[in-house]
Amino acid sequence: MRNRNDLAQKLEGIDSRGYKAYKSIKGSYDLGDMVLHIDHVQSDPFAPPSHLRAVVPQSVARIPPELFSNPSRRIGLEDYLTRRFHSSARRHEDRRGGTGKSGLLSIDRCGSEILRRTSMVVGEDFVEARFVVGLPARGRRVMAAKAKRMLLESVPEVASEALHYRSIDADEVEDHVQTTENQDLLRSQLEGLELVSFVANGSILPRESGVSDLPLEASRAVPFQSPPELEVSLTLKDGSQISGMGVPEGVSLVVGGGYHGKSTLLRAVQKGVYNHVPGDGREMVVTVDSAMKVRAEDGRSVVSVDIHPFIADLPQKIDTRCFTSENASGSTSQASNIVEALESGSRLLLLDEDTSATNFMIRDVRMQHLVEKSLEPITPFIDRVRELHSVLGVSTMLVLGGSGDYLDIADVVVKMVSYVPRDATSTAREVADRFRSDRRAEVTQPMREVSPRVPLPSSFRLGRRDKVRPKGLHHVRYGRSTIDLSLVEQLVSSSQTNAIAMILTYMAKRYMDGSRSLSEAVDSVLEDVRKNGLDAISPFRGGHPGELALPRKQEICAAVNRYRRLEARQLQP
Ligand code: ADP
Ligand code: MG
Repeated sequence: MRNRNDLAQKLEGIDSRGYKAYKSIKGSYDLGDMVLHIDHVQSDPFAPPSHLRAVVPQSVARIPPELFSNPSRRIGLEDYLTRRFHSSARRHEDRRGGTGKSGLLSIDRCGSEILRRTSMVVGEDFVEARFVVGLPARGRRVMAAKAKRMLLESVPEVASEALHYRSIDADEVEDHVQTTENQDLLRSQLEGLELVSFVANGSILPRESGVSDLPLEASRAVPFQSPPELEVSLTLKDGSQISGMGVPEGVSLVVGGGYHGKSTLLRAVQKGVYNHVPGDGREMVVTVDSAMKVRAEDGRSVVSVDIHPFIADLPQKIDTRCFTSENASGSTSQASNIVEALESGSRLLLLDEDTSATNFMIRDVRMQHLVEKSLEPITPFIDRVRELHSVLGVSTMLVLGGSGDYLDIADVVVKMVSYVPRDATSTAREVADRFRSDRRAEVTQPMREVSPRVPLPSSFRLGRRDKVRPKGLHHVRYGRSTIDLSLVEQLVSSSQTNAIAMILTYMAKRYMDGSRSLSEAVDSVLEDVRKNGLDAISPFRGGHPGELALPRKQEICAAVNRYRRLEARQLQP
């Protein structure tokens, strides 16, 4: 293998030449304490940065094997090392005096969630960081001296600061890894206890602001405290118990006055499908991992979804057993979101009145008298929510302030009072008995299993010049169509969006064969990821796979469902 002198000489040899000369440094170099792999060289100082890897042998890194002794701990460790690499790279990068991305030194950015990512790989024999570099240029000319400093000094320093165990705080890394493991452990206890979510006492649920995912400062936040009636204890790795509110399977309501913390609780629960970092405040809030936030999303496209359980007999005889729309309304979009969540295997639906279509949620007795059922296409959610649980085994947690009719059908009612939850289940029953609502249930046909849909391969065919590209957190460009994910609330990282873009290509090539259902195709992809790692979905074989984080099945399905050129047919269940 070539060594540091070879790289130094190569760089000197191309000093001040046109930027394309950088292509010649592609390859692997032994730098002593690490091997540097230059996998991809950007074509231009303004192009996406170059892809590099630093591989440090464990004989140098010396990370104790207990820190990655099972998959949960390994993901926690890889996340921790990525964060360290990120902050160290920030200190070492030098963006002064070059054009475009000159001097950039960075790695995938992590938010409050701990996700499975491609940025770091810890193995028995090595630690590998996959990062990016903006190779320095003056105008469009190679700056050799600066490149030498970056690749031969800064990168090895960052690798040693971030990845050598002796530079790491042993307690901090153990806490990070253990917190990850404990969250997986708590989540795995939910089903046995017939719970769908757990919110530990002492959790800090509110965020600093609407645009920040950091916790609200301690002096202003009211820590979560379970009502005694709903308190349960779960077991942590070390055998100790942790107490908090258990949300039981079935139908749970969160009620309370405006601004008393209802939506904040629901948001913590919906994010509880992911693990959080120590200090986030929600690191002991866990939810069954298939939970799906469903909301109104007017304007979205819908393809061949059977929304008949919720909406039937639209004007102009529009067929709702196989409903397609370029521009769904509030209620039809919410119905589609629910049916698609069921199709993707979700066991818990999360709804907030703030983001729901009112006419989808409820039709009260007066409206039932004024507008007769034969003229109302909507079977409101209130008339389906019990059946979702009794027939399909799907639970619902619902935030409501406005409609008391739901008191009749709830298993549990939590009332938020100044950010403190109280159990209001029995009071709610008394109220429901005292003030009878003469509302009639509007169900005509029982709820059935959802028909799986098979995406047609032709709808994913791309022209020769068509590309599939992620754009930030919320968009994926697929050929000539843009998939809008901005209201898919549990998509949390643009690296997940990067992965979704790659998965669409991967899945279209391998698994969209005209006979597999969408759910089966996504399962096949996730099975490949389980067997071969997240690198498997990347087209950059054997090198830097890009900045990818694993999305859930639900978000992958959500992307396909929002693809405006999708064509699909339904199978009978
Ligand atoms: P609701 O949905 O009941 O109207 P929100 O959940 O939107 O109320 O909360 C209203 C405000 O109170 C938000 O600014 C939120 O950050 C803040 N908040 C929520 N929970 C807490 C808490 N436990 N401690 C302090 N502030 C909170
Ligand atoms: Mg609210």
